[in-house]
Amino acid sequence: MLYDLIIIGGGPAGVAAGIYAARKKIKSLLIAESFGGQSVIAAQINNFIGFKSISGLELKNVLEEHLRVYEDIEIKEGAKVEKIEAGKSNGNFSVILKSGEIFQTKTILLAAGSNPRRLQVPGEEKFEGKGVFYCSTCDAPFLKDKVAAVVGGGNSAFYAVFDLLPYASKIYVLSRGETLKADPIYIDKARSSGKVEIINFAEAKEILGDKFVSALRYEDKKSGEIKTLEVGGIFVEIGYQPNSNMIKGLADINQNGKIVVNCETQATSCKGIWAAGDISSVLYGQINIAIGDGIKAVLNIYDYLKNNK
Ligand SMILES: Cc1cc2nc3c(=O)[nH]c(=O)nc-3n(C[C@H](O)[C@H](O)[C@H](O)COP(=O)(O)OP(=O)(O)OC[C@H]3O[C@@H](n4cnc5c(N)ncnc54)[C@H](O)[C@@H]3O)c2cc1C
Repeated sequence: MLYDLIIIGGGPAGVAAGIYAARKKIKSLLIAESFGGQSVIAAQINNFIGFKSISGLELKNVLEEHLRVYEDIEIKEGAKVEKIEAGKSNGNFSVILKSGEIFQTKTILLAAGSNPRRLQVPGEEKFEGKGVFYCSTCDAPFLKDKVAAVVGGGNSAFYAVFDLLPYASKIYVLSRGETLKADPIYIDKARSSGKVEIINFAEAKEILGDKFVSALRYEDKKSGEIKTLEVGGIFVEIGYQPNSNMIKGLADINQNGKIVVNCETQATSCKGIWAAGDISSVLYGQINIAIGDGIKAVLNIYDYLKNNK
C-alpha cells in the first residue's frame, strides 16, 4: 500500500497534523512510539491555550482522544521509526521501523520531537533510573529526605529544583559556566528556599554508587580540582537532542541537530518531506507552536499532493 502521507510522532505537532490530515481525507498513517510527547511528564501546563491548567497526562489524553475521533487516519502506536529512504526513481519514500516493517509513502511529516541530552560520563548509563534521572516531575519523590544534584544552569534545571524542593533535604545545582542561563526570578526563588547551593564552573565527571547512586564527581574548572558530592540522586537537565537521525543524509540538519525548515510551509530541503515542532529549526519549543506548525505543514502537504498527482 502506498500512503499519501506518513506522520512520524504522536506529540502535539504529530497529533494536530493527524487531525488535519484526516479532515482533509489525505490517505495517511501516523506512527508514534507513544502519544503525548515530552510534556507528558509535566505536572502542570498553564499556557496551553484554552486550558487554564492541564497536566501532561491529561494533555496526552485530550490529544489522543481527539485524533481517535477520526477514522480517516491509520494509527500505529508503539512503533519506532529507524530510517527513511528515498526511492531512486518514483520519488516515494520508505519508512523503516525498528521492527523491520516498511511502509511506502509519497510524503512525510517529521514530528518526532526531541529527547533529553545525556552527560556521557562514566556511571551515567549504569545508574539510569537508579539515581540518574531525566524527568524531575516523575522522579523527584525518590529524593525524599535525600541530597540531590541537578546538573545544568538553564530554566529546565530550575524547574527540576522546584520539583525537588518539597522532597530533597538539600539540592546542589552544578553549572559549567560562570553565570547561570536561567531567568533571575527562578534563581532568586530557588536561593530563597535556603535548601539550594549553586556551584558554578562545575563539570560533571563521574557518577558513583553501588546499587544506587551515592556520589557525583565533578571538576572545578577554575582550580582544576576534582571534587565529590555525596548525593542520593542526580537530575540531568542539559537540554534536548532532536530525534532527527532517521533523516540524516536526506534533509539539511543544523548544528543543534534540528531539521532546517522553511518557516512559511515547514518544508525541509528534501522535496516531499516536511518537519514540525521541536524536531524542526523553528526557534521556540512550545506546545502551541508545535500544534500550529504541524497544521501548517499538513495544509502545505495537501496543496503539494493536489499539484503533484
Ligand atoms: C517537562 C516538560 C514540560 C514542558 N512544559 C511545557 C509547557 O508548560 N508549555 C509548553 O508550551 N511547552 C512545554 N514543554 C515543551 C513541549 O512539551 C514541546 O515543545 C512539545 O511537546 C513539542 O511537541 P512535538 O510534537 O514537536 O514533540 P514531542 O512532544 O517531543 O513528541 C514527539 C513524538 O514523537 C514520537 N517519536 C519520537 N521518536 C520517534 C521515532 N523514532 N519513531 C516514532 N515516533 C517517535 C514520540 O513518542 C512522541 O510521540 C515542556 C517540555 C517538557 C520536557
